[in-house]
Amino acid sequence: MKKILIVFVSLLVILLLILFINTWLLTPLEREQYQPQSINVDKDRIVQHMSEAIRFRTISILQKTISQKSGSQKPASEDSFLEFTSWIKQTYPNLFTKLEVQQIEGYSLFLKWQGSNESLKPILLTAHYDVVPVIAGTESLWRYPPFSGKVAEGYVWGRGALDDKGAVISMLEAASLLEKQGFQPERSIYFSFGHDEELGGINGAGKVVEFAKENNIQFLWSLDEGAFLFEGLIPGVEQIMGTINIAEKGSVTLKVIATAEGGHSSMPPKQTAVGILAEAIIKLESNPLAGGLDGLSSYLLDEASRYMPFSKRMLFANQWLFKKLIEDKLSDSVVMKAQMITTTAPTMLSASPKANVLAIEAVATVNFRIHPRDSIKSIIEHVNRVIDNPNVRVEQVEGWGNPASKVSSIESKGYQTLVQSTYEIHDSVVLTPGLMIAASDSRHYSQISENSYRFNPMLVTPDDIASFHGTNEKISIDNLILATKVYNRIMVNGSKK
Ligand SMILES: [Zn+2]
Repeated sequence: MKKILIVFVSLLVILLLILFINTWLLTPLEREQYQPQSINVDKDRIVQHMSEAIRFRTISILQKTISQKSGSQKPASEDSFLEFTSWIKQTYPNLFTKLEVQQIEGYSLFLKWQGSNESLKPILLTAHYDVVPVIAGTESLWRYPPFSGKVAEGYVWGRGALDDKGAVISMLEAASLLEKQGFQPERSIYFSFGHDEELGGINGAGKVVEFAKENNIQFLWSLDEGAFLFEGLIPGVEQIMGTINIAEKGSVTLKVIATAEGGHSSMPPKQTAVGILAEAIIKLESNPLAGGLDGLSSYLLDEASRYMPFSKRMLFANQWLFKKLIEDKLSDSVVMKAQMITTTAPTMLSASPKANVLAIEAVATVNFRIHPRDSIKSIIEHVNRVIDNPNVRVEQVEGWGNPASKVSSIESKGYQTLVQSTYEIHDSVVLTPGLMIAASDSRHYSQISENSYRFNPMLVTPDDIASFHGTNEKISIDNLILATKVYNRIMVNGSKK
């Protein structure tokens, strides 16, 4: 008995030693150091331009409403879109003399800054200037009117400030500063400013891509909106973490159709179409697609865990023992769950048209956001396997299927450029690759780019993130300056051989 106890205690001590040693060894990694770059920017000018940009009501949804009604592709607030592109040209006259300008579909701007070495593949910097509407009735919740571009409390306020006019203005400011200094890129730099990203980018980025294909333009890499530098994103981690998204999730919508006999509601069978459907949906919700903290989904937390307090760090340092526990805990957060797996979201239901008529068919619409490890085919197979009922069939909704993007390299010149340019301006951040859970115009641009990255060099807080497509959207003046400087370095570093 005593012997068993000794063995048990010894094993426990060994286990604890392993746990502790692993935790002590999990410390911040050494990274390459870059020479800090100081760039003088004209703060007042940038703020003024950002404020003016917000005042144009380049609202996507109006555009959709009108084009559906009239069958035309013209935006409803056509004037705002055209006024905005004219305003850009007037605001940056020297830059626009230098650049080759294409106005694609009338509204999206595709610009080329000719490089000195024609044999080098060009790079592409993109952003979109359309914005989502402000939900009717919520205007009064805004601290300052959403299209006022009010400058107050260290911010420029208004719809589109972060998503994504801030990037448009910062890129233009960075380019115009370089132009003024007589900068000559070696590699050509292209810019694309889309006008319908919030509607899927088909007439903006999509047509830019068509134009590029027709003209045999292929990019070494592209940069679009995406993740940010985050402050206070992960509880317990004070370190500022930044994510450069190297892939984006896809999306597919399926109809799950349950069938039954039908008839009068006074004589229902044991199970109705509605009951069969309900069972199928419950099965789908309780059997999500497999996945966890690995590959693309693990970079950020693996890195952030090095800055966690001891107890949390111990879990991450000993994933051989605690991986399941970590994943279960993370799955409580809808954001983290979306990072780890293909999500399942039943969104619409229909069945009998009348209260006293049994449904012949009950239909649920289910939207899946596809992790790069899954495909549309593997999702349909999963759904059929999980439901496993001959009275239920699964159909893909036409036009609603985009596979996940390809995963771009973290060894490439493009990724290295983004990392170096950010560190040159903001030294106290830790950058990691990541996965974009929302859709972006990169879906289109990646067709003509060897690698595509999704990243805004701006430092955001959870409060900023909540304002995306929501109330009180704003961009801090510090972020406008930061982004202008980083984009400046991206253009300088990225256009070199
Ligand atoms: Zn956006």
